[in-house]
Amino acid sequence: MTDIIPCPAPPRLAIDGDSRTFPVSRIFCIGRNYADHAKEMGAAAEPIFFAKPASAITCATALPYPTETEDLHHEVELVLALGENGTIIASGTGVDLTKRDLQAGLKAKSAPWEIAKGFDASAPMGALRLGPPPATGSISLGVNGAVRQSGDLAQMILPPQDLLAQLTRFFALQPGDLIFTGTPSGVGALNPGDTVAARIDGLPPLDFTLTERR
Ligand code: MN
Repeated sequence: MTDIIPCPAPPRLAIDGDSRTFPVSRIFCIGRNYADHAKEMGAAAEPIFFAKPASAITCATALPYPTETEDLHHEVELVLALGENGTIIASGTGVDLTKRDLQAGLKAKSAPWEIAKGFDASAPMGALRLGPPPATGSISLGVNGAVRQSGDLAQMILPPQDLLAQLTRFFALQPGDLIFTGTPSGVGALNPGDTVAARIDGLPPLDFTLTERR
């Protein structure tokens, strides 16, 4: 059998201190997993699930400001990487970029969020670190050197094992799956030229700069 098109190569994440890479299959995301962020969004502190396509992953250090938004928001998140049997084999620092203006319009229409959450390069990622994810520790994001988000992983309403338990009710989790675990409060707008520094205690850092619109 011959494929009619070239088989798309998955995005791959670097692994800190290891020459191997992690091929990304699916990206599950949780919203409202920190009570203080749910509150700032005017939402109940009830975690909800959504997804991004694998094409959302980017490891670029310079990203063009995306199209069709005037209110691009940053959300720093602990990201879990799954191996065989749906177990967590590594974790890393990611940013769930969100077109907040589009998302607000979609929420008002009870419409799906994909165009606000799943656009190309909407999931910048740092390198992964092998081993169990940190259960506590600082999670923060700075823009141009000023702290915007600052929280602790211990504030998660559903910690990693509970997230896995919930997701497995609906999906057979597979090697290559990533889970974005939600963001603490302090989300806000990014502009072209901004430099973003996302940090989680004990994990590789994530740094990127937004360039002008294409
Ligand atoms: Mn998020």
